[in-house]
Amino acid sequence: MPTDKNTLRQKLRARRRALSTEEQKEAASRLATNVTGSRLFLASRRIACYLPNDGEIDTHPILAHIRLMQKDCYLPVLSRLSHDRLWFARMETDTKLHPNRFGIPEPVVPSRDLVRAQELDLILMPLVGFDDHGHRLGMGGGYYDRSLEFLRHRHHWRKPHLLGIAYDFQRVNGLTADPWDISLASVITDQAVYLFD
Ligand code: ADP
Ligand code: MG
Repeated sequence: MPTDKNTLRQKLRARRRALSTEEQKEAASRLATNVTGSRLFLASRRIACYLPNDGEIDTHPILAHIRLMQKDCYLPVLSRLSHDRLWFARMETDTKLHPNRFGIPEPVVPSRDLVRAQELDLILMPLVGFDDHGHRLGMGGGYYDRSLEFLRHRHHWRKPHLLGIAYDFQRVNGLTADPWDISLASVITDQAVYLFD
């Protein structure tokens, strides 16, 4: 793993964590306005999101909106049998959560209720950094890349649509994509909407 990517990850993660509670709330609220007003969000029924970890932009206002609009909300689950691929579980108001091996809460559901990424319309993806080509820098585990590998062999748009969500300062110049990296179709931040392709 190239060291410059790790240095960049550390820098961007530290900047996220340095925001005040007030700044975080303000940005999360602006992000939710931008996401929930987008045509893509409105057109999607089965939407995966994430619970914030490590200073990631807060998704609670978006989750509330998904519920309000009676769309189906999913969260990623790291199943022990999934070989480091993500599955997705419905999150309803009474769904129990339990921390996974990274300490990130995930829904406790029977394996038969887990769905694959292919079954979703839209995935709101966390990220550490992104660039003007839609290249995504994650936390370094490659989980989304492995889970979305099937998209590499496609030449035209198919489900699910990959939408990165982030603070605007997470936009960086010229990330080098590795062969296994899956690009984002768009990114929405607290300040802008970026469309790639
Ligand atoms: P992130 O996407 O979280 O920033 P990387 O892209 O650096 O992290 O990927 C982390 C590791 O995951 C890589 O070293 C790579 O070996 C592994 N990986 C990612 N995608 C795949 C894949 N489709 N098949 C096998 N290994 C993968
Ligand atoms: Mg990657």
